[in-house]
Amino acid sequence: MYEYEYDEFFIGGHWVAPAGDGTVEIISPATEEAVAVIPEATEADIDAAVSSARAAWDRRTWRDLYPAERGRKVLRLAEVLDSRADDIARRVTLEMGQPMALSARSQRGAIGLIRSFVDALDRIVFEERRTGPAGPALVRREGVGVAAAISPWNGPFFLSAVKVAPALLAGCSVIAKPADNTPLSGYVLAEAAAEADLPEGVLSVVPAGREAGAHLVAHPGVNKVSFTGSTDSGRKIAAVCGEQLKRVSLELGGKSAAIALDDVDIETLVPALVAGSFYNTGQACTALTRLVVHRSRYDEVVEAMAQAAKNMVVGDPLDQATQIGPLATAAQRNRVEAYIGIGKSEGARLVHGGGRPAHLPKGYFVEPTVFADVRNDMRIAQEEIFGPVLSVLPYDGTDDDAIAIANDSKYGLHGAVFTPDRARAEYVAARVESGTFTINGYVNNPAAPFGGVKGSGIGREFGAEGIDEFLEYHTINDPAAA
Ligand code: NAD
Repeated sequence: MYEYEYDEFFIGGHWVAPAGDGTVEIISPATEEAVAVIPEATEADIDAAVSSARAAWDRRTWRDLYPAERGRKVLRLAEVLDSRADDIARRVTLEMGQPMALSARSQRGAIGLIRSFVDALDRIVFEERRTGPAGPALVRREGVGVAAAISPWNGPFFLSAVKVAPALLAGCSVIAKPADNTPLSGYVLAEAAAEADLPEGVLSVVPAGREAGAHLVAHPGVNKVSFTGSTDSGRKIAAVCGEQLKRVSLELGGKSAAIALDDVDIETLVPALVAGSFYNTGQACTALTRLVVHRSRYDEVVEAMAQAAKNMVVGDPLDQATQIGPLATAAQRNRVEAYIGIGKSEGARLVHGGGRPAHLPKGYFVEPTVFADVRNDMRIAQEEIFGPVLSVLPYDGTDDDAIAIANDSKYGLHGAVFTPDRARAEYVAARVESGTFTINGYVNNPAAPFGGVKGSGIGREFGAEGIDEFLEYHTINDPAAA
């Protein structure tokens, strides 16, 4: 009756029966039918994964390899994942409704990202001899220990890969904890790890809910937590890690602004915003969900965005032509619909969408929605909706006035400016408070550090900086050797 049935977890290289007898059904958001079942993880399963990871760390087999050797093993893992890429894409689409065309691109992108981490190893100095007033010292960089990789449901495979690969390359033993409502690609990761013959204990994959996740974070056997998810959860996790003085990095929410200056080229703006605002049905932390437009071009831009939203294909996510799938869960649809209600009651003008598509009676669908006449103090401009809802705000005055609106946010993840004028674009780019930014487009670059400022998080992923997050310094002084 299910498409996928699992009754074990992958713990330290072995398929292991769960400690409890609970199960979790995976519901397709497109059909509202159960498509898979997995065991429900308990604290005992997490304990088993941590104990296996610690034993591997203490055996030193993985951490003592030359980084290039770890790189070769991780490349082998990427090769196996590559052979399963279509399968991974379909699973992600099935479990969380990511449109298939996007899912295929995104999962291949994740595998490319794993390879780009291996390339980035060359940029890290793992051992360096220095001489100073206290004599010679060997400065070594080594893995931080046992790392927990906690990822959310909106990009289950990508957001696991972006943590697991750099942690492995750093020499850590890794426990991946995908969200328990989107576990299916995590099972492929586990199968690939077995096929790639990673040493025992080095990788565990335990899809789990919040409680088991909290147990993992607080576990004394874990040295580092890498978390992607909501700002509220991030704050709680950081507090636990702070109490225990445990390393933590946080990739959290966003409310990123795209700024359209008075000379904006609409032909460039619209496709970038269609991709950037409605990416993954708006369930993307980097989504450009505020569009700040100079008053002189405002009506024209509102009209173009309303038309673009109207033209988007909403439907079965398994259909290659679909651009907007369902929201991932019923709870997420409730949240998005509540925000649409809030936007109306705050006095924003609904120019497209706002409801459920009439042709899709089943599934957690919401139409791509555009609000105009949004003020930046409205909740729909300040709070992360995490759905296909774009708020368009007018600004008067200079480029600095637009920058001030963009920066009047508790978040700081991404941003964009649209203008053919390079100097003005660079002026704006330098002044918007965000971890990443795009000029005349919407791009996440795997070769460059990615992450947030303010409420969007602490730490960076991608590139050598992503591996740095899992490394510790170890200085060995040897004064007599002088
Ligand atoms: P969430 O915070 O509820 O859950 C994320 C993951 O953390 C899940 O695996 C969950 O089981 C686990 N979790 C939750 N509370 C935990 C706790 N106290 N201890 C340990 N684990 C815990 O978030 P969500 O609703 O699943 O995801 C959506 C959010 O993630 C959005 O706010 C979005 O912006 C954010 N996000 C950020 C990025 C980024 O890179 N900055 C990327 C994707 C999503």
